[in-house]
Amino acid sequence: MKYYSTNGKAPIADLHKAVVKGLAEDRGLYMPERINKLPQEFFDNIEKMSFQEIAYTVASAFFGEDVEPEALHDIVYDTLQFDCPVVNVKDDIYTLELFHGPTLAFKDVGARFMARLLQYFIKQENNHKEVNVLVATSGDTGSAVANGFLGVDGIHVYVLYPKGKVSPIQECQFTTLGKNITAIEVDGVFDDCQALVKNAFMDAELNEHMKLTSANSINVARFLPQAFYYFNAYARMKEQGKADNLVMCVPSGNFGNICAALFGHQMGLPIKRFIAANNANDIFYNYLQTGKYEPKPSKQTLANAMDVGDPSNFARIYDLYGKSHAKITSLISGATYSDEQIKETMRECYKASGYILDPHGACGYQALVDGLQPGEVGVFCETAHPAKFKEKVDEILGIDVEIPERLANFMKGTKQSVEMSKDFADFKAYLLKQ
Ligand SMILES: *Cc1c(COP(=O)(O)O)cnc(C)c1O
Repeated sequence: MKYYSTNGKAPIADLHKAVVKGLAEDRGLYMPERINKLPQEFFDNIEKMSFQEIAYTVASAFFGEDVEPEALHDIVYDTLQFDCPVVNVKDDIYTLELFHGPTLAFKDVGARFMARLLQYFIKQENNHKEVNVLVATSGDTGSAVANGFLGVDGIHVYVLYPKGKVSPIQECQFTTLGKNITAIEVDGVFDDCQALVKNAFMDAELNEHMKLTSANSINVARFLPQAFYYFNAYARMKEQGKADNLVMCVPSGNFGNICAALFGHQMGLPIKRFIAANNANDIFYNYLQTGKYEPKPSKQTLANAMDVGDPSNFARIYDLYGKSHAKITSLISGATYSDEQIKETMRECYKASGYILDPHGACGYQALVDGLQPGEVGVFCETAHPAKFKEKVDEILGIDVEIPERLANFMKGTKQSVEMSKDFADFKAYLLKQ
């Protein structure tokens, strides 16, 4: 399969290049030149298949030309060592729980898949050198990437994070791992971390010294595998006879997750329509209303993983529908919620059903409460476990959220980090010594 850039000015890439590079030379996002439709027979029998079987079928449609069947099978099965179940919350509202992975957020699926695919390609290179993944994080991405790559041979990960600015629960998920993961605690803010990473990629001497790559969420190997769990959600709903008028609602920030769902739809997944649920960062919502895409600086909210003022994957959605506002609005609607509304939603849902929403999932749930039409069945993604936001959730609901064992285990580990100034010269000197 060939991949082109959404900016249209970069050379066509193969999957290997798209995965190793992440972003195209013209800073556009890679798109597959074709989206293969899955046969009707697959959808007719999907409810009889396991999550892993479904995922392997979907993965083959995207990656089958470029990855040996056995290797792809291993990558898929090794990635999906946990379930993504669909659970009824109330009436015709269901939640697709995406927090059963190692770091309790949906990013585990994409990060684990990407790590394994990257390893597969690196092994094919002649006299392959160790690859170094640099990732800047404000919290959640670092933990998913670090855990996704943990113990993967031939890859070393450097996670750069702002000192004192990530929650203790988030911090322990990437500072206690050891092995091939190094946490770098930068005396600065998130933007400083990102600047260090960008400077490193542009530094000729450093690139001569070591092989550098990113594990950014725009990477095709991180975003496409997210389609797997939408197919599985459909299968599990079909099993219950509830799949005829499905509405899929995705709490969105950078729009990678919903973009994967839309790719699934293009492959024939029978979802009737989609809702993109936003917090107060309402750029996509406004685009749907006005047809104008106007990025803004991000606003800090309770659902902080969705605080994005210029969602990268908008370019992919725009491209997927031939830049047609009419096509986009005929399939996707939007919703936007303030912090006050998020809190109110969490309380209402807990009272009505006993289900504990996290602030991100709360946007998805509320968008279904507000937008579901008679006869439709809604599924929203619960993108993270509420315990990841324990302080906030406890305060809003007046409860003591139980911390799952795998999260508690991170908190028992010993923190290991390298202190770093925000000065690129210091970071470069450190990397040159590795
Ligand atoms: C990353 C993240 C989101 C946003 O997903 P996008 O793919 O960026 O739209 C939503 N919720 C949680 C918990 C996240 O970590």
